[in-house]
Amino acid sequence: MMTQGGGTSLAGLSTRYGRRWGSSFCRPPIVLAIVALWLGGCGVIGRQAPTGLPARHKFTANQLVVQSDIRLPKNHQLIQDLETLREDLASTLELPLQKQPVTIYLFADEVRYAQYLQTAYPNLPPRRAYFVGTSDELAVYTFWGDKIQEDLRHEYTHGVLHASLKDVPLWLDEGLAEYFEVYEGPRGYNREYAEHMGEALRNGWRPDMLRLEQLTEVQQMQKADYLEAWAWVHFMLHDSDDTRGALLSYIADLRFEARPQALSARLQNTLPNTESRFLAHASTLTQAAVTAGAVKVRQ
Ligand SMILES: [Zn+2]
Repeated sequence: MMTQGGGTSLAGLSTRYGRRWGSSFCRPPIVLAIVALWLGGCGVIGRQAPTGLPARHKFTANQLVVQSDIRLPKNHQLIQDLETLREDLASTLELPLQKQPVTIYLFADEVRYAQYLQTAYPNLPPRRAYFVGTSDELAVYTFWGDKIQEDLRHEYTHGVLHASLKDVPLWLDEGLAEYFEVYEGPRGYNREYAEHMGEALRNGWRPDMLRLEQLTEVQQMQKADYLEAWAWVHFMLHDSDDTRGALLSYIADLRFEARPQALSARLQNTLPNTESRFLAHASTLTQAAVTAGAVKVRQ
């Protein structure tokens, strides 16, 4: 539930959230996940014999390594989509093309995926997909299912970001992944988020990037925060050259510095009317949701 910045809840969404933990790694492993509709399988996970990573099929496509239970042609549309996404991330965020490989472990089905995660990461809650970044490997774990394209795009975005930047603030990591997971319709546009944001704005909710920046552990991050992170990314990338430039400048600094000056502080100095501009942009997003809904009803 949203507890600051206006008192209006943006929760109740069927969206994602992730989880990170720290340990003794030089660069702590980063674990990000999807809030899942985990359909069955959970009750028997602990009783199953351990199963290994997918290894039956393996190929490399540019900086993508795919290990899967099922045979996936190298030119499969999902793989081509991720290669396009890699180029899109580089050009949109003005980053060099990601060089560090991202490995996708694609399980044949949910049960086998669940069995593996339960064995390898027994403390993780069930999620539809995970991104795990360590100093050794950037890995995506997921299974063949209805949401495979969205899930792969979301997690692969995390992979590219962590391959390209010294660090990624949690809110921006998720905001960008939410934005780039969208593969159809208007670019980066999440209609469900827009609808909820419209309702919240009418009830007095206001954005607060500074608050989002204080969230460092995924356990602190609620569903509403994923929505707000997405909205900030959409605003920054689409509102104007000024906002896009501020975001890209911040991301450029993150390539060389883990803790550059926070984006909210930069905006205070360079875009004094940020909130009113955000609200104007948000109203176009929510209006688009209303219009899309109306069109759908007529169909
Ligand atoms: Zn994520």
